[in-house]
Amino acid sequence: MSENFDVVVIGGGPGGYVAAIRCAQLGLNTVCIDKQVNSGGEPSLGGTCLNVGCIPSKALLDSSEQFHRLNNQFAAHGIQVENVSVDIQKMQNRKEGIVKSLTSGIAQLFKANKIQFIHGAAKVVAGHTVTVTNNDGVLTDTLTAQHIILAPGSTPVELKSMPFNYDTVVDSTGALNFDEVPERIGIIGAGVIGLELGSVWNRLGSKVIILEAMDKFLATADQQVSKEAARQFKKQGLDIRLGAMVKSVEEESGKITLTYSKGEKDHQEVVDRVIVAVGRRPATEGLLSPDCGVSTDSRGFIEVDNNCQTSVENIWAVGDAVRGPMLAHKSSEEGVAVAETIAGGHGHIDFNTVPWVIYTSPEIAWVGKTEAELKEEGVEFRSGSFPFAATGRAKAMEEPIGFVKMIADKKTDRILGVHMVGPHVSELIGECVLAMEFRASSEDLARTIHAHPTLSEAVHEAALAVEKRAIHKVN
Ligand code: FAD
Ligand code: NAD
Repeated sequence: MSENFDVVVIGGGPGGYVAAIRCAQLGLNTVCIDKQVNSGGEPSLGGTCLNVGCIPSKALLDSSEQFHRLNNQFAAHGIQVENVSVDIQKMQNRKEGIVKSLTSGIAQLFKANKIQFIHGAAKVVAGHTVTVTNNDGVLTDTLTAQHIILAPGSTPVELKSMPFNYDTVVDSTGALNFDEVPERIGIIGAGVIGLELGSVWNRLGSKVIILEAMDKFLATADQQVSKEAARQFKKQGLDIRLGAMVKSVEEESGKITLTYSKGEKDHQEVVDRVIVAVGRRPATEGLLSPDCGVSTDSRGFIEVDNNCQTSVENIWAVGDAVRGPMLAHKSSEEGVAVAETIAGGHGHIDFNTVPWVIYTSPEIAWVGKTEAELKEEGVEFRSGSFPFAATGRAKAMEEPIGFVKMIADKKTDRILGVHMVGPHVSELIGECVLAMEFRASSEDLARTIHAHPTLSEAVHEAALAVEKRAIHKVN
């Protein structure tokens, strides 16, 4: 095919497919090129998020959480269960079914919006031109466009000391696909993936040891939240070792010996599987020919300004491959903003209100600044917090764990950040994002009626606590 489009989108993840749909909604003749295939080798839209990221991990988190509850929490409700077992193959099939229905849903949305889809690997060459090659490296298409949106996403970082063998040493994709519960798992990195996938296999019965290079646990989160989360994870049996640097990995007869240093000493752990979860890097290798003019930084991130404009006019880049957090909703928001800018509107992204959620149990969620960040910036603030243990709903749910903390500007009372650890906080954070988006004060939330009994009452009480007037705790 050789054709001219208004917009060529490279990448069909939450950055690219959302940008393509918004472009089509705005009347632009749009094509999206994506190279992802599913386990059956078929093209599969949705990128990392739908295929091997957000969705399959949440499917397994939910299945394993049900199993954990059955074993550990039902008795408190007076419900006796015996001979509980888990069918891993069925659990994995359920996950695959969810992925398949969502990825094929994107293909249907493309059809409905008259977006052309090309399966293959795209490369940007000079003159706003994009070439596409198939799996055999054969050139299949040459496209030109007024605008190009780059959304190639990211891939897992591989450690030189322990290259993936995709069997016993795996990345997050491998860790989503284990067909049996390993007896002992070593996870390198106590970040988001290490904690979420560590939780899955820990709940299903593996002994999980997480080796984290840094001395601080969840350093970017509110430190009180990190402390409470660490306490809860320890109770669940997750063995998190901070300041641990892996030195060597040796495999013999299916057993892996991890040698790591912690403090002055060397230690060893023997495990059956290793999951490496030490971050992700931009997937920009082979994407840009040197003459296309788009610049990348030393780590391969595509350089963009605040509006996602690259170094070349009318070539834009969004999502994991550009600066900022590697989150699906951040990618999609950038995709929408770029589409609207291209169509002559005004794209808007508020980077101060990007929510973070870690889907462990208890869940962790936050938006805005932490107390530590505000102190460093010299901003004066007040904060108030409220424990879930003092809410009727959390008690009724047998989950009286964690708290909500709200931080507001000392002079203006404008909300600067909200930090939570506890049940379903992934759903509670939305209210706080909206409040910050509307530049609300803590008083605005304190004066908002929250239904009783709900978990959201903890948000209400945290807002009241900023003024030291929470009702259901001593201020
Ligand atoms: P991607 O989703 O990576 O999509 C990029 C697409 O472009 C891919 O399909 C890729 O094959 C394709 N591509 C790349 N180069 C080319 C090329 N040259 N030609 C054609 N196609 C190309 N984020 C959250 O917000 N919430 C979560 O709960 C969450 N959970 C996660 C769990 C795991 C295990 C992982 C790994 C990630 C998770 N993330 C989560 C992160 C989230 O998946 C990413 O932030 C998001 O997918 C980024 O979207 P994107 O569109 O920028 O890139
Ligand atoms: P991460 O950046 O969250 O955590 C990586 C961890 O590995 C860090 O704590 C780091 O200090 C540690 N580390 C780095 N090198 C190490 C080494 N050699 N030895 C021991 N520890 C080492 O990265 P991730 O967990 O791989 O996740 C990648 C990205 O995917 C995240 O940044 C996140 O944006 C995204 N993600 C989001 C969600 C979510 O939103 N719920 C879920 C999964 C992934």
